Amino acid sequence: MALIVQKYGGTSVENIDRIRHVARRVIETRQKGNDVVVVVSAMAGETNRLIALANGITADPDRRELDQLVSTGEQVTIALLALALQDMNQPARSFVGHQVKITTDSSYSRARIKSIDAKIVKDCLKKGEVVVVAGFQGIDEEGNITTLGRGGSDTTGVALAAALKADLCEIYTDVDGVYTTDPRICSDALKLKKISYEEMLELASQGAKVLQIRSVEFAAKYGVNLVVRSSFNHNEGTLVCKEDKSMEEVIVSGIALEKGEAKVSLRRVPDRPGVAVRVFGPIAKADINVDMIVQNISEDGFTDMTFTMPRTDLSRARKIIEQLSPEIGLKRIDADEDIAKVSVVGVGMRSHAGIAAKVFETLAAKKINIEMISTSEIKISVVVKKDQGEVAVKALHAAFELGKK
Ligand code: ADP
Ligand code: ASP
Ligand code: MG
Repeated sequence: MALIVQKYGGTSVENIDRIRHVARRVIETRQKGNDVVVVVSAMAGETNRLIALANGITADPDRRELDQLVSTGEQVTIALLALALQDMNQPARSFVGHQVKITTDSSYSRARIKSIDAKIVKDCLKKGEVVVVAGFQGIDEEGNITTLGRGGSDTTGVALAAALKADLCEIYTDVDGVYTTDPRICSDALKLKKISYEEMLELASQGAKVLQIRSVEFAAKYGVNLVVRSSFNHNEGTLVCKEDKSMEEVIVSGIALEKGEAKVSLRRVPDRPGVAVRVFGPIAKADINVDMIVQNISEDGFTDMTFTMPRTDLSRARKIIEQLSPEIGLKRIDADEDIAKVSVVGVGMRSHAGIAAKVFETLAAKKINIEMISTSEIKISVVVKKDQGEVAVKALHAAFELGKK
């Protein structure tokens, strides 16, 4: 008998019919002799609807209250799924995050899981029940409800699988695996049989929202057997696992597109020691995740600094820098929301030269201007104008021959 954690995303629990369909799928897994823990997201669109409600009251909602509000979406779907299971004669019980003691830090809307005491889950499994747990949420040490960031139910699923030492964690979504790029952008994208944790980490952090980045971090850290598959068919899916020899032969495994970032340029910053920490220290303290940073060569004692970060944090970052600017002596802050980031990822890059040149050449041929570049051992990212993001992905997907032959 194996223990399987199954996570179902928003489209899989979009309405009552789909919830019944998920219940049947869970029972199918039970009937093969497995224990099943299910993690569900809110119904598709529900989290956005709740955020819009808060924004109808204030443009800058208190982050504690926002988490209190958006966590309710998942409370609805867990109860409905438990009811559907019971209706099919499968004993089941649902729990919200704090009932299974998913404790997190207090960073509202992007909290990190610190521990899970899953005793209650194990007790229910012993009784033959299916356990249904709300994704995306936890509780901090003071008892406040927190949420794990958009797409956070993936992380609940994988973290629970790690805590329970489950044999398998299945992420059920609306595509049947991880593809060479978002199949909504390139219709000829190919499904990968397997992908290394490291590559999946890069793709997830560069915008491939098929898995939340922290879920991949957990999977890699605890060696969770992770499979991405569809709840709408029985296709095999993609295994996310440790790197092996065969993976190195593939130079590029995937391309990701991130359209949710903004670019901030600080003009004529005095070029002297300590300036970078004065700017980025308070930004980090405010929990704003800075992504790429570029500093120009200094002229006459001044330099320009440009960085990217989530667009949703732009107004907060701006306020912080405006407050600092008299003290730092910077001349001007320019913000640009009209950007997209395209990233080419593959462990094979470690042993193959010329990948960056091929990326630049491909984009040049399409007359796409590159505004920023950053690289790691297994990734090349470029920032381009937003409306050129998809064109760039398609061109690179073709140039690296990732599509169907
Ligand atoms: P869920 O609601 O089930 O969590 P998401 O919308 O968060 O689903 O993630 C699934 C989506 O991720 C797909 O519909 C697809 O458009 C997108 N996606 C982006 N990049 C990829 C990729 N490389 N492979 C598969 N899907 C991808
Ligand atoms: N409901 C949350 C969201 O929309 C969490 C999730 O779906 O994973 O981001
Ligand atoms: Mg998701």
